[in-house]
Order: sequence, then structure tokens, then C-alpha cells
Amino acid sequence: MNVLVLGAGQLARMMALAVKPLNINIRAFDVGSGTVVDPLSTDIIFGELTQGIEFADFITAEFEHIDHQTLAICQASGKLRPSSQAIKVGGDRRLEKDLLIKCGVANAQHQIIATKADFDQALNNLSMPLILKSALAGYDGKGQWRLKDKAQAEDIWLDIKAFFDGGVQGLQHAVVAEQMVPFDREVSLVGARDSQGNTLVYPLTQNHHTNGVLSVSIAIQIDEALQAQAKQVFDSIAKELNYIGILAIEFFQIGEQLLVNEIAPRVHNSGHWTQQGADTCQFENHLRAVCDLPLGSTELIRPSAMINILGEDEVPNEILSVASTTLHWYGKSKRPGRKMGHINVSGNDEKQLAERLILLADMLPETAFDELKPYVASYKKQLS
Ligand code: AMP
Repeated sequence: MNVLVLGAGQLARMMALAVKPLNINIRAFDVGSGTVVDPLSTDIIFGELTQGIEFADFITAEFEHIDHQTLAICQASGKLRPSSQAIKVGGDRRLEKDLLIKCGVANAQHQIIATKADFDQALNNLSMPLILKSALAGYDGKGQWRLKDKAQAEDIWLDIKAFFDGGVQGLQHAVVAEQMVPFDREVSLVGARDSQGNTLVYPLTQNHHTNGVLSVSIAIQIDEALQAQAKQVFDSIAKELNYIGILAIEFFQIGEQLLVNEIAPRVHNSGHWTQQGADTCQFENHLRAVCDLPLGSTELIRPSAMINILGEDEVPNEILSVASTTLHWYGKSKRPGRKMGHINVSGNDEKQLAERLILLADMLPETAFDELKPYVASYKKQLS
């Protein structure tokens, strides 16, 4: 089976690594160069997207910010899974909010801003503080502004206006203004849906962000009510999109209630722990769904966590001496804050996982993993 992935980053690479044993060959479309490459070596295989489409039995995507023309060509081939509509929803916060409303799913109070009049209206209708997010081209905390009180409004409007003037691929820009949610924690649900409509989800994952970027994910073992609430949201969104593949949903948890923050129509960073912690990892399950193979079990094998390596191209080798620890590099060149790799770690129970996380936090340099130590210490405390 041959699959073309739109995007040639670490997610395409991990898909290729995961499905080689199933005899699924992955080629990746590098949107920057317009060529089709081997996702591991990045050697060019085809010079044109059309050759990649011809090669593929199925086409999928590793990111949602793909230009609409490319999506249209792939959709027209009849091979694209999930559909271009589902991919576009993940890349445009306006469509995402429409979807959440249509599915009756709880999310933060918000308003769409395309003009100064909309901005002024949002300041009156929503209560402070606000977070303003670019509708297009924003991810990992980029294209976002925080407004604590009205005194900052004029300055922030000038910034937003400059951002609008930059334009995005000829599409009209907008910003979604959201009320800040006083959440207890951030969690996410990663799950798979096949073409028959069957769904399987992984255990919820508790996520910690540093400067708006995911830094640590820990699979949550048992909270049946919360898991059921998240699964219901997953099923309604996946059904509405007639989704095929892995879909990730990020939530804010307030008490026992979940509010959707955003959805990602793809394998997700908060699901990387599944490589060592679940029966079938998210990368394999994505390709199983896309290629019409039966979904694999999403059960947790052992409590597991993932630590992102941001902006570093080396870590001390001694981390590999910590039991049940694996290291995954993405083969990318070093840039400040860039996702360069991740570390997965598991334990026989949550206490052992917490102890191993603490060992790792002691070995990793605080300069690059500055919030890791306090976060894993608070996780350990949460267990006792
Ligand atoms: P996003 O790009 O929407 O995932 O936002 C990045 C991070 O900003 C989230 O993971 C949260 O930590 C924070 N954030 C985003 N939206 C809100 C909100 N409405 N209330 C509180 N924090 C938020």
C-alpha cells in the first residue's frame, strides 16, 4: 500500500517508521519545495505533486495549514482521508467554532473579529481578560494577543491590524476573540475513526504548555466520567466531519467540565506517548484507518508520559539509563523553540512513572527544560 502525506515534517516521519512493518510505504509532499520526498532521508522522489498523487493509494495530511488549491487537487483524486473539509476546519478557527456550535459542544465564549467595529463590539460583549487568536496560520501560541484590560486595546488593535495587512495566501484574515478560561488543567483526547464510522479513543492526556507550546504530556489512567465526556465530544465531531483517521481534541478542564479549546485533524504531539504506552500507537492507527485496515486497540499498556525537546539538538545520553525511556529525534536543524524530538517514559504504575520523570528532570538541563522540574514535582504531589 502506498500513501502520500501532505507535509514532510516529524509527523510524516513517525508515520513512516510506524507502518513499515505493515508494508505501507509513505512518501511526503514538502509544501515548501513542491516536491515529493522520502520522509526519513528527505531525498526527492518526485518533482511534482501530481506524480505523488498517482503513486498513492491514499493521501493524508500531517498538518492543517495546506493551501486550498493543493487540497482541492487531492480531494478531486478521491484518495484524500480525512477530507479537505475536515483539514480546512482545523486550519481556520472560524470554521472550527462553527463546527463546535453545530455539534453543541461547550467551548469558550468568543466573537469573530474582521473589522475595528467587531473589535470594539467584542470589548463590550466579552469579559476581560481576552485572548485574541489569528483565525488562520496560527499555531503553538503564534499569532496570539492577550488583552488584560481595555487600556491596552488601542495598542493591540494596531498589532492585529499590522498582522491583517500581512495577509495569508490571499484569504481574508480575521481574529477570534475568546474569554480567558480559568482552567484547572489542559487535557486532550486523541482517537481514531474508520471509514465505517467505528471509533476508538486513547486515554485522556494531561498537558503542560510552556510559552504556548506543549512541553509535557502524561496519559491519565482512570477517570471514567471525564473520559466518557471527552469521548462523546469526539464522536459527535468525528461523525459531523465524516472523519477518517486520527483526530485530536484539546480541552480546558474546569472542575468536572470540559470545554473544547481546539481540534487538530491529524496525529498530535500530545499522542506521542502512545508509541510506547499504548497497544497501537497513534501513527499506526492513523494509517490503519486511512488504508481501511481494522483499527488497533488504543488501550494503555502502562502509565506513560512524553517530554518535548524544544530548540535543542542534544540531550545527555544518561537519560537512556532510566528504565523504560526512549528517545525520538526528528532529524531537524536547530532553531530556538523548534520541536526537535521527544522523550517517552513509562512506569508500571503512576508512582513509578512520576519517579522516572523526576530522574529525567534532574538529568535534563534546566535552561532548556525550565518548567519540567516543578511540573513533574506537582504531578507526583497530585498522586499522593
Ligand atoms: P491554542 O493555540 O489555542 O492552543 O492556545 C495556546 C495555549 O494558550 C493553550 O494551550 C492555553 O494554554 C492558552 N489558551 C488558549 N486559549 C485560552 C483561553 N480561552 N483561556 C485560557 N488559556 C487559553
